[in-house]
Amino acid sequence: MPAPKRKPAAKPAPAPAANTRASKLEKLGLRTDMDLVLHLPLRYEDETEVVTIRQAGMMGASIAQVEGVVSSCEIQYRPRRQLIVTIADDSGQLVMRFLNFYGSQTKQLAVGTRVRARGEIRHGFFGAEVVHPNYKVVLEGAPLPEVLTPVYPAGEGLSQIFLRKAIADAMQRVEWRDTLSPAQLAAQQLSPFEDAVRLLHNPPPEVDEHALEDRSHPAWVRMKFDELLAQQLSLKRAQVARRAKNARALPLVGQLSAAFLATLPFTLTKAQQRVVAEISEDLRASFPMQRLLQGDVGSGKTVVAALAAAQAIDSGYQAVLMAPTEILADQHFRKIAAWMEPLGVQVAWLTGSLKKKEKLAAQAMIESGAAQLVIGTHALIQDSVQFAKLGLVIVDEQHRFGVGQRLALRNKTTSENGGGEAAAAAKTEATVPHQLMMSATPIPRTLAMTYYADLEISVIDELPPGRTPIVTRAVDQIRRDEVIARVHAAVLEGRQAYWVCPLIEESEALQLQTASETYAMLAEALPDLRVGLVHGRLKQAEKQEVMDAFSAGECHVLVATTVIEVGVDVPNASLMVIEHAERFGLSQLHQLRGRVGRGSAASVCLLLYQSPLGQIAKQRLMTMRETTDGFEIARRDLEIRGPGEFLGARQSGQAMLRFADLMTDQWLVDRARELAHTLLQEPTPANNATVSAHLARWLGEREDFLKV
Ligand code: ADP
Ligand code: MG
Repeated sequence: MPAPKRKPAAKPAPAPAANTRASKLEKLGLRTDMDLVLHLPLRYEDETEVVTIRQAGMMGASIAQVEGVVSSCEIQYRPRRQLIVTIADDSGQLVMRFLNFYGSQTKQLAVGTRVRARGEIRHGFFGAEVVHPNYKVVLEGAPLPEVLTPVYPAGEGLSQIFLRKAIADAMQRVEWRDTLSPAQLAAQQLSPFEDAVRLLHNPPPEVDEHALEDRSHPAWVRMKFDELLAQQLSLKRAQVARRAKNARALPLVGQLSAAFLATLPFTLTKAQQRVVAEISEDLRASFPMQRLLQGDVGSGKTVVAALAAAQAIDSGYQAVLMAPTEILADQHFRKIAAWMEPLGVQVAWLTGSLKKKEKLAAQAMIESGAAQLVIGTHALIQDSVQFAKLGLVIVDEQHRFGVGQRLALRNKTTSENGGGEAAAAAKTEATVPHQLMMSATPIPRTLAMTYYADLEISVIDELPPGRTPIVTRAVDQIRRDEVIARVHAAVLEGRQAYWVCPLIEESEALQLQTASETYAMLAEALPDLRVGLVHGRLKQAEKQEVMDAFSAGECHVLVATTVIEVGVDVPNASLMVIEHAERFGLSQLHQLRGRVGRGSAASVCLLLYQSPLGQIAKQRLMTMRETTDGFEIARRDLEIRGPGEFLGARQSGQAMLRFADLMTDQWLVDRARELAHTLLQEPTPANNATVSAHLARWLGEREDFLKV
């Protein structure tokens, strides 16, 4: 029977092929020769040895390489289409089985061809056999490689063969000069750069493979040290650069701050007092503050932000607070306006949903300086918004904003700086507002340092008193009726409940449908209660109406998609049900759960899940049951997911460390920090040359990104 012909893939023209390869390399972040050289292997294959087929068959199911001559090559059709190639050496025969193959392989592996094949060779019923071996056609007596064969991280459409060649070529061209002097290498007990890189790409067969694998080999240590040194240098330079910029000193903690504190219905916690002092100190300086305020959900960041704003206003400047959603911005506006307006502060409000006329009025107030405090969403970063004298920028839930959005707000030119050419000329003189970012997603300190080049961190590590701990249970969704009964009971006791439906990333329509169905189900099951529904598709006014009814206690049960994740504050809500909790990430579950436990009533969070649970989902739910400490949760999240995913590719981008691991390489971080300090502290020509060569090698154009 003739083999059915497979159409060979059309060959693209050479130029576009090169282009697509370049763009595929670019996707991996490989632009320059040095990028390629620093693209280090994931693992290695040992092709330095050939064993006989007989020996290979006796080695159990371990990986071996054999060499033989093809004695038969045919396509079989039963039980499924496959290519069966038999090779033989003096000791025996080996069957190579390919379930996926190209028609051209029958020609390539024609009878009489000599091949080297490497794979997991098993001793089967019909003799030695290997499925999908790596193989190559060789001439008799062809020399074996003397080094291990690297396997590189590869993007789609990039073959190992292509990458190996590209990297080997780059290694020929690249400038190898060590960025560290022999004396520095000796002092740090580090391998020379070139030796380390060459060893990692092509290790000799006698290398300690285990040390390569766990990256404890001296060659890896050198790579990690260099990477960390670049990071530390860049970080310290960014700090220096920030200190060289001008900001308006906001020295006054005056009447407004005092009056504000006096009218607050509570006293600040110790942790709040501490961070307020840290921020206040920064605001006095004449270079811009860049501080991240971390505090668990409910830890009371808003009042800290308001106090920072008060200091700016007291000192005669404007402050702006940007929140990621209208719901949250609205909540901040109401709360802060209620605090501040009685004290004579003009608070303006600007979001995308304002009517044109209202928007213009708000903009006019902002531009004239009449608005002392401005609260809103990303509508604030539009070009048409001009501040009279902006002293302080506050970004709530900062991780919800892109780097660009945060920068846009900070870079708001204020009319005080003048416009047009004058402003361009005065650019270097222009002042930068102080910046306070807030986040309830605690980023471990070490990780924050790699993510943000230059950032001070304040932490609120204490919740306001009088909170009752939240009890968390995981409940199989087949016990839904019990959960509904529980919601009913809570409402009869005068409480309110959230019922959260998961984000369905593939389809907003589907998400809406689930939320609507849940809403209908609950409305039917709880006919004596008022059930509300809020989701992302509602118009702002409609959302607001539902939220208002819930805040006022008129609505008992709020069915919500994750729009409520951020910052919503309704202290009377003490029960939260999270539908399909297994689909949420840990930090998201934690954020959601933070919506309850805000009042004095004992709060409960029920995590409804669909069994069977996967391993990671199980770990997550267990973590949620075991702790309500956001930092602990972040730590476990980091363990479960690893730092790359933890920050989200969207945010972390190139800033992430590739080689060093902050958990296990802390000792290297310390050493790199010390050397960075010395190099910058003693700016001799030699040290300066080291710094610039090192940064150019390791960061190249990426350094700009890190400066953000
Ligand atoms: P988050 O840090 O999550 O933004 P909020 O600022 O919304 O937290 O504060 C949560 C709740 O705690 C609010 O109702 C706030 O008024 C209240 N709160 C803040 N600080 C204190 C305090 N020191 N004592 C009592 N309640 C406080
Ligand atoms: Mg908040």
